[in-house]
Amino acid sequence: MELWRDKIKKTEPYVPGEQPEGKNIIKLNTNENPYPPSPMVKKAIDEYSCGNLRLYPSFVCKGLKSALSDIYNVGEEEIFLGNGSDEVLALCFMTFFNSDKAVLFPDITYSFYDVWCSLYGIPYERIPLDNDFRIVKEDYFKENGGVVIANPNAPTGIYMETGSIEEIIENNRDSIVIIDEAYIDFGGSSAVELIHKYDNLAVVQTFSKSRALAGIRVGCAMANAKLINALEAVKNSFNSYTLNSLSQAAAEAAARDTAYFEECCNKIINTRTWTVEELSKLGFETLPSCSNFIFTTNKNIDAGSLFEYLKSNGIIVRYFNKPRINQYLRITIGTDEQMKALIEAIRRYP
Ligand SMILES: *Cc1c(COP(=O)(O)O)cnc(C)c1O
Repeated sequence: MELWRDKIKKTEPYVPGEQPEGKNIIKLNTNENPYPPSPMVKKAIDEYSCGNLRLYPSFVCKGLKSALSDIYNVGEEEIFLGNGSDEVLALCFMTFFNSDKAVLFPDITYSFYDVWCSLYGIPYERIPLDNDFRIVKEDYFKENGGVVIANPNAPTGIYMETGSIEEIIENNRDSIVIIDEAYIDFGGSSAVELIHKYDNLAVVQTFSKSRALAGIRVGCAMANAKLINALEAVKNSFNSYTLNSLSQAAAEAAARDTAYFEECCNKIINTRTWTVEELSKLGFETLPSCSNFIFTTNKNIDAGSLFEYLKSNGIIVRYFNKPRINQYLRITIGTDEQMKALIEAIRRYP
């Protein structure tokens, strides 16, 4: 009996990168920012009145929405906020992907997409990336129940120009296209302005990577007000207060400190360039990355063994034992010092 078990059992949960407790570990496995959040975040938290926790948070999130509205040049009615972009994406899947047709996404991409499809019973089709791990836009010009693309893609780091993104949106006017821009600030250009041109586009972003606030759990979707209203309705049928008031204050402070944000992103981009060069001297081939991680391989070194070796040397990177990518490592860009230690450790690989 126990009919409920049938469905739950089929859902294989997403497996996040490990969060080790040890002190001297160099953690390059979950694409966190190696730099602390803006000093303005500390100020906002220090000034936050603890007595305020007595109250439910604002579900309008006026302050944070107005900060995002200034940055992205969108109306506050075009912004949806959530408890991390994972929650925003999960609600987008629930709200926008509910036809009998398959939702399309690449075979190699953020591994949460098929988890949500399976949780909600949404049919889906994985479209293979080409041999260079690039998305072939024409593959998405066919009937579907929705499209979701991470841009830059994960774990490849490869960025697709906004022109190609626009073609995908244009060729799917009857379904919703979600662009997951978790890594857009590390070298790409956002598709967000297209929300004024296309009512079938939702752009999702997060404070976890480029704004160094993974612990505070804030993400957003930007889209035409009609789509945002639909998202709000679904969210309010589930939990009206997803964003706590402390997180709202911290995220608003981070969003308003543009100078610090740009400085950190630039540092990470420079460290990425250095790391790719050093790895290339050691015989690694790295996919062209526009994100805060790289995806790299070496013909002479087994990726799984290198992963274990680095781990035993206190450096944790990400290894996916999956078809097509099991000879690659995904390495988050840390500080210069951390990346030097990584290169030194690889140099000593027996
Ligand atoms: C990290 C990541 C997210 C989710 O980040 P949150 O911390 O939940 O905001 C979403 N999509 C991709 C592709 C990511 O790598």
